[in-house]
Amino acid sequence: MQNLWSEIEAQGLEPIAQLTYMSRLIGADTNLVVWGGGNTSLKLWEKDFRGRDVYVLRVKGSGSDLKTIERKHFTGIRMEDALAVESNEDMSDEEMVAYLALCQTAHTDPRGSIETLLHAFLPAKAVAHSHADAIVALCNNTRGAEAVREALGESVLQIPYRRPGFLLSKEVGAAVRANPDATGLVLMNHGLITWGETCNEAYDRHIALTELAEAYLANRRAGISVFGGVKASPLTEARRREVAAAIAPVLRGAVSAPKRMLLRYEDSETVLEYVGSEAAARVSQIGAATPDHILSTKTVPLFVPATNPDELPLLSQEIRDAAQAWRERYFAYFERNRTDQPMLDPTPRVILIPGLGMWTTGKDLKAAQIPADIYRHTIQIIGNAEAVSGYKTLSEPDAFSAEYWGLELYKLTLAPPEKELARRTALVTGAANGIGRAIAERFAEEGAHVAICDIDADDCRAVAEAINKKHGAGRAVGIAMDVTQEAAVRRGFAALALAFGGLDIVVSNAGIAPTGRVEDLALETWERSFAVNATGHFLVAREAVKMLRAQGMGGSVVFNVTKNVFAPGADFGAYSCAKAAEAQLARILAIENGAYGIRVNMLNPDAIFEAGLWTPELKAERARAKGIPLEKFEESIQQSNLLKAKVTAMDVAEAALFFASERSAKTTGAVLPIDGGLREAFPR
Ligand code: ZN
Repeated sequence: MQNLWSEIEAQGLEPIAQLTYMSRLIGADTNLVVWGGGNTSLKLWEKDFRGRDVYVLRVKGSGSDLKTIERKHFTGIRMEDALAVESNEDMSDEEMVAYLALCQTAHTDPRGSIETLLHAFLPAKAVAHSHADAIVALCNNTRGAEAVREALGESVLQIPYRRPGFLLSKEVGAAVRANPDATGLVLMNHGLITWGETCNEAYDRHIALTELAEAYLANRRAGISVFGGVKASPLTEARRREVAAAIAPVLRGAVSAPKRMLLRYEDSETVLEYVGSEAAARVSQIGAATPDHILSTKTVPLFVPATNPDELPLLSQEIRDAAQAWRERYFAYFERNRTDQPMLDPTPRVILIPGLGMWTTGKDLKAAQIPADIYRHTIQIIGNAEAVSGYKTLSEPDAFSAEYWGLELYKLTLAPPEKELARRTALVTGAANGIGRAIAERFAEEGAHVAICDIDADDCRAVAEAINKKHGAGRAVGIAMDVTQEAAVRRGFAALALAFGGLDIVVSNAGIAPTGRVEDLALETWERSFAVNATGHFLVAREAVKMLRAQGMGGSVVFNVTKNVFAPGADFGAYSCAKAAEAQLARILAIENGAYGIRVNMLNPDAIFEAGLWTPELKAERARAKGIPLEKFEESIQQSNLLKAKVTAMDVAEAALFFASERSAKTTGAVLPIDGGLREAFPR
């Protein structure tokens, strides 16, 4: 821990700017707070809307993050009104929130943090509260109270665990007033509060106490193996990644009820050492370190006791068994503690497998990142607490009431409804341009995570970056894939499984369009067309079906075929014949996979001139074959369909979305033309 306060930077800042400065210093250190945790405040005189002097508490608003906090995120609360309720016997969370809303100096400010009254009742001007790892480790063990005293001294107060709310605020206020010489306060199993006449003073004390805790822990930990040594060594990096990719869909299938989850994989050194340790099976099941962490990680991870992570069938079974046991344990925990609230999703957020590492789950990859970031800190906290004495945390009822806390549940109800392809992953081949790119972008728009596959790695990366820029990091990944190469296709699917955890939708779209009359056609041209337009689809579909079956959640495979299958044209033999094989492959796959809930359908677009396949040469060739002047070719294609419509890549993307989504849940083996209506190409 380092004191980052710079007199030069803080000099001359007006009070709220000092508060912002302090908050960001705390927020920037993930050993103090992660993902929106902690809060800060300052009491000061302000002018109200009529120019009157009013004493105001500026406190971090709900929903903001200390590391990026701005002036507008601090809610103004009239101190006189806040203090008026301190003598109340009790207030429910709902009463407190309603009351505080009336104390705000501006209704346009965000709602104050749930710890607002705690800040208000503390007599000092500046207050800082964090969930510092070292402090949490110090109090989350079997001799927490003594350890806090030994490390921080008598001048630091201790308040036994109580869920944040009115009573805790009152207790803190009274304790600090009764001990005017105290410099800080530890909320057991929760975090640290310090205060001062200035932000600088509150911050200095915060860092100084955290440093004392760190030094105490380092001393205890020196020379001992806190997790009891190695039980399972990690597999070599290459093998680990290979197994992780193969097993991720099994894992995803096992933890995706009732809702699909995205899985984020991590095999950092810290994680590998922890999951492979003697103690991991035991200490990982004790509980989350703070009430704040429970909201993101649930109380305990799913620990898979892998006998031999290198043996996939055995590991798959162990995963299914452990996931089932975790769910049963969660149901029992819910039944033992339930109130009138409905059950939250019974899905682990953190999954630990010795030899392989950690997966975290979420409705999207961004959400899956949060438990990963928190659990890395949890590993440190558990290790340090074990070094002091045994890791011990919140009681089950306290953990339950943190997880099922009404105010937090209320926040969930404010989330916007999920999009049609939310929680789904899609792999699209030939996605660097034209139809494939339009499909990938359309799917991303509807909430899917997409793998952009094409032959050139840079092109894939560029499309993925554009999607991530628009929809947020992690939503797309570029994967170079030559669909004619068996190994490349396998590697591509493995990369997808590592990135997202599994697969829901595949659009097999990559294609080429060689032309030429049969008598002039080189064997090489014929074979190249079959390699891409038939074998390529086979290789992609084979990997897709394997992965979808391993996952056991159904799936949708969409083939981009062509109207040529029904209405072949001259000079297009190599193309049409290979495409006919693709269409037949799609039908066979529909027949073979219906029992697994895997749907297989075909799109039949007519000439989409934005498609990469439509090179100027191809256009010239096709115009010649049809006996149409080149400059009139596009227009004549449009005029030849019943709707006289110009068919675009976006039109094909809409049709692909229909097959990918649940809207076509009862359709498989079907062909959907996107051609403006061509009677010779009607499917029959
Ligand atoms: Zn807190």
